[in-house]
Amino acid sequence: MGFDYNSLLMASGAAGVALCFTLMSSWLRERGSIFLLTWAACIAIIIAAIVAFSVFHNTVNVLHSMLAGVLLTSAFAISYGGFTQFSTGRFETARVALLGVVSAAPIIVSGALGFDGLSFVFINLMSALLLGFCGYQYWTVRAESPGPITAIAALHWMLTASYVFCVVAVALETPLYLNGRVPDNWAEALNLMVSVIALTGIGGLFVTVHQERISRRHRDASLIDPLTGLSNRRALFERFSEGHVPQGTGLVVLDLDDFKGLNDRHGHAFGDTVLRSFARLLVENCRGEDMAVRLGGEEFVLVLPGSSTTQALALAERVRSAMGRMIHTADAQPVTCTVSAGVAVAERPGLSLDSLIRKADNALYLSKRSGRNRVSQTTSTAA
Ligand code: GH3
Ligand code: MG
Ligand code: MG
Repeated sequence: MGFDYNSLLMASGAAGVALCFTLMSSWLRERGSIFLLTWAACIAIIIAAIVAFSVFHNTVNVLHSMLAGVLLTSAFAISYGGFTQFSTGRFETARVALLGVVSAAPIIVSGALGFDGLSFVFINLMSALLLGFCGYQYWTVRAESPGPITAIAALHWMLTASYVFCVVAVALETPLYLNGRVPDNWAEALNLMVSVIALTGIGGLFVTVHQERISRRHRDASLIDPLTGLSNRRALFERFSEGHVPQGTGLVVLDLDDFKGLNDRHGHAFGDTVLRSFARLLVENCRGEDMAVRLGGEEFVLVLPGSSTTQALALAERVRSAMGRMIHTADAQPVTCTVSAGVAVAERPGLSLDSLIRKADNALYLSKRSGRNRVSQTTSTAA
């Protein structure tokens, strides 16, 4: 093949520069995603290592190979920090420093003792260990975006394998001393080719995973009511997007009483705090499979899968009574706010969400008409 060491070195450097720009521009659009900047920094250090390797290629000076090796292993150690930032939001400084020091030490010590061949073996060995470890870390969090993250782990392991080949090749050829020769064998050439593929591949995949994360965040936000943090109407209809509600699903529609008057007397901001307190009360009374929804304004819905009318009525009554007892404070004065509720249960299969809500609404209307601060139910034949 017509690939020489220096052209491959330049190609992997060029791939690194392109990747660095891609990551930086992604970060500029989403500054909260600091891990993109950390990855960009890793690539910048890898590029510096490539420059040092190319200097070493001309000088065969062990100081240059040591510098290149320490830059390379530091970049891989920092890339572990990028991983923890990506998965947990925190840069684990102590662990990154430990990885950096532990991997640099044998490269420096053996080089300083004059074993330039051994130092070169350690550069490859430590790089292989760090990359294998990082690849494993990505593998453990692949559930977030299975395709791209598995591919990121696989590319790390591809690099790991190519560094292992370099360890073997150098250890066989020049185990202790380079004797004035730069290691230039099939394994080094393979390693550089794999580096070009892995650098560009991992960079593109990082951007993909990041974009997927952002679109997921936007989607989640579009299903949440920003004032109360409860699910919104859209989330409710998405839950039953197949068009019907399973038999035995209970629905409680709740509407705060005289809320307009409360707003008028104490201000809209106070009304908002009452809405938030009521939302908390709903969540406290929900089981894991239940869903608390703010339909809009001061109107809420509880969805209770696998619930009998008696159970749904009991829950609605518990919420009503707790809300009536809750004391809010406006202008240092105690204020109470009551709630009316209507309960309906899907007693047969095939009922649409709309018609179940209509039934519960009819029951709510009964509660309002009979004086508010009460719970009513509709029978399956109503509505
Ligand atoms: P009823 O007992 O019949 O339900 O009377 P009501 O006053 O509660 O009902 P009405 O529909 O007349 O008024 C609802 C009020 O809820 C009017 C509106 O200003 C208020 N509201 C709707 N959304 C919000 C909100 O996000 N924050 C606050 N503070 N008030 C809201
Ligand atoms: Mg109301
Ligand atoms: Mg209302």
